[in-house]
Amino acid sequence: MPSSQPTAGHLAVKPEYLSSQPSPMAKPSEPNRNTKYDPKKPHITDTPITKSNWYKHVNWLNVTLIVGVPLYGCIQSFWTPLQFKTALWTVAYYFMTGFGITAGYHRLWAHTSYSATLPLRIFLAAMGGGAVEGSVRWWARDHRAHHRYTDTEKDPYSVRKGLLYSHFGWMLMKQNPKRIGRTDISDLNEDPVVVWQHKNYLKVVIFMGLIFPMLVCGFGWGDWWGGFVYGGILRIFFVQQATFCVNSLAHWLGDQPFDDRNSPRDHVITALVTLGEGYHNFHHEFPSDYRNAIEWHQYDPTKWTIWIWKQLGLAYDLKQFKNNEIEKGRVQQLQKKLDQKRAKLDWGVPLEQLPVISWDEYADQAKNGRGLIAVAGVVHDVTDFIKDHPGGKVMISSGIGKDATAMFNGGVYMHSNAAHNLLSTMRVGVIRGGCEVEIWKRAQKEEKGEVVRDENGQRIVRAGTQPTKVLQNVATAGAA
Ligand SMILES: [Zn+2]
Ligand SMILES: [Zn+2]
Repeated sequence: MPSSQPTAGHLAVKPEYLSSQPSPMAKPSEPNRNTKYDPKKPHITDTPITKSNWYKHVNWLNVTLIVGVPLYGCIQSFWTPLQFKTALWTVAYYFMTGFGITAGYHRLWAHTSYSATLPLRIFLAAMGGGAVEGSVRWWARDHRAHHRYTDTEKDPYSVRKGLLYSHFGWMLMKQNPKRIGRTDISDLNEDPVVVWQHKNYLKVVIFMGLIFPMLVCGFGWGDWWGGFVYGGILRIFFVQQATFCVNSLAHWLGDQPFDDRNSPRDHVITALVTLGEGYHNFHHEFPSDYRNAIEWHQYDPTKWTIWIWKQLGLAYDLKQFKNNEIEKGRVQQLQKKLDQKRAKLDWGVPLEQLPVISWDEYADQAKNGRGLIAVAGVVHDVTDFIKDHPGGKVMISSGIGKDATAMFNGGVYMHSNAAHNLLSTMRVGVIRGGCEVEIWKRAQKEEKGEVVRDENGQRIVRAGTQPTKVLQNVATAGAA
């Protein structure tokens, strides 16, 4: 072993360095820790759900916020007339609070895919608060765990537990905090906007979620109650359900052009529902890219909005993966699909598995009525194919029992790649002597792994590389 290689006992990083690093976990002294949580006590999720304890498993606060309040809003809407101005404002505020989640909570804080000036961070923390989906700190920590442990037990909203679970079931039922994967949020703890929003979360939610939209409609055109019901409650419901789709629909519906080893998928419907977060297969591969959609024609208003903020000087350092890296992922996934397709096709018995027969044996069998043809030292049984031969019965029959290498390769007819492919499915043996040397060289190359194989070990036969394809001087070969 070269002396420069690390051996057992030699650590790559000095232990002093590791112990000097801050712990990624929140300290008990940090303002954001749930003081009631005691990791030593058994958690309710450790006991199975029964008829007598099911209500203890339910997160009643979240049930009230996500199901109860929206239901109340739906009932109120029956006798609350919807004014046109209120409707316009509701849609506009829907987009603003939606961007608070997608551009703020998600792309800015969870993934740091760009940087934002203080006024923009305050705006996003306020708007995200108005969407009523928890504090930035809580949301981004769970989301980082979701990316780090996608589809595993440590994924807070793993789609493997069901579509409804990944949508909002994970919030309606109590979760064991020990289960969620660890993530580093030291950068979030250093952002005063994030810390302030987390500390004052309830005030932010009530004001931005309900009071602010009501004030706009009330002072604007006197529709206080409409502002509360439509701009507040029902808008919250729609924003929540839309953004929850990133965790459910985006892991369930669509294509996987970059990697299909886990659940994230790309689909335009998810993009339409989630303000552009629908290209989720791309997003999980390139999470710190400020874009979700990379094609100009794909729907990603969150990306467009971040770009406009950049033009206004509010956002900067927009991160973008190089096209070269993106295309590599796409090609590898295409290759994988191609390998799967190739594996389903019949490429004939591999040369090294064919029996070796002597020339005399070959000639004898052919004489006794078996339609055997030798091309480049490989014996093919064409008995059932004679009647279907596109060049006619006579031509193919004239090669039976002979060395038809030259005939097949241009002496009589220059056969197509498709013909070589078809011929390979009729292989039955390899001739000892004659072309044996060449063919065995090939077979040995294959065994040594010199032949290209795909990731499943399947041999790749490219067009024009079938062993029966012989590039030789046809005239001399024919004369031999
Ligand atoms: Zn995801
Ligand atoms: Zn993400």
